[in-house]
Amino acid sequence: MRLFAVILVVSSAALSACYSNPHYSPVKSHHTKDGFINRYPHPPKNSFWKWQWRRWREGVPADPQEGYGFALLRPDVAFLAGNRSADTLTWLGHDTFLIQWGGLNIMTDPHLSGRASPFSSIGPKRYVAPPMSVEELPHIDVVLISHSHYDHLDRATLQQLSRQKGGPPRFLVGLNLLAWATENGIGNVSEHDWGDAVERSGMTFHFVPVQHWSARTPWDRNRTLWGGWVIEYGKRRIFFGGDFGYSADLYDLGQRFGGFDLAMIPVGAYEPRWFMKTMHVNTDEAVQAHLDLRARYSVGMHWGTFRLTDERLDEPPEMLAQSLARAGVPETEFFLMQHGETRFLDEILADTPAQDAGPVTEAR
Ligand code: ZN
Ligand code: ZN
Repeated sequence: MRLFAVILVVSSAALSACYSNPHYSPVKSHHTKDGFINRYPHPPKNSFWKWQWRRWREGVPADPQEGYGFALLRPDVAFLAGNRSADTLTWLGHDTFLIQWGGLNIMTDPHLSGRASPFSSIGPKRYVAPPMSVEELPHIDVVLISHSHYDHLDRATLQQLSRQKGGPPRFLVGLNLLAWATENGIGNVSEHDWGDAVERSGMTFHFVPVQHWSARTPWDRNRTLWGGWVIEYGKRRIFFGGDFGYSADLYDLGQRFGGFDLAMIPVGAYEPRWFMKTMHVNTDEAVQAHLDLRARYSVGMHWGTFRLTDERLDEPPEMLAQSLARAGVPETEFFLMQHGETRFLDEILADTPAQDAGPVTEAR
């Protein structure tokens, strides 16, 4: 075991030493010769092994049963497949949304597999089944990937999507993830730096900074770029945050884009704070993010699907309600969805001047 550890350390040091970031630009402050860093300084990430040791010593809340207390709604597959006119938002669990907007079908961090793990039989498993299969999805035009972590970049789902009838979607990923996609047989991919903007059918997709990190192996830490996506269409803007810890990037984005009509903000995977704080917001910080971003509406994500951290899987809704009450933000303004739920967003995203912000249109 000790020999194995030595080999692991030596080989990872050797592999790290010979890597250089092919996109490195010395004028970009988030670029380094061997990867990327966040824009704002923060304490270094604490030891993963210290967290695992404490979990083993002190225990964590019991794993919930399958489907634990959460409704699993069946999306209207036929409607979604034919819809190119109504603005809809469907939550398929974790950070996976189907956004139908401006005649395009857009997916965020598509993950419809059984585990968020490099392995099929170990690693964080899904507690609520995928509301629909990849085959049941409408034809997807654009896929937005926030970063390389296994709960966001799911090889099996992306490979299936790349083989969808009618040709693959356009996959937009962070710098240095194109090679991974190519190795895994996923085509029609472009990789982007913070500040890049991609046009498609009158819509603009901006890759933007948030405070996080990346890794898929012990050897590729922060070599691929993480971030959030802003979708801009007409005068409307949606923000998809991926994963982030609380930082001034959120305020900067609110200023730069003049606020958002809808923001997708993570509200789960926050305990223990001493380990998670730099990379995942808790619900107080999520509500502050909603305010900093100047979002008219926000929807919580990154909860209730995979057990990644130490809080109960069903805790985030309670904590979010308390955080909203403390901040004086109405629950209609920062809402949660059920797995598989579709909401019509015509009032939020219609390409006409907004009425006074009313409640989100009820799910039909
Ligand atoms: Zn992550
Ligand atoms: Zn995540």
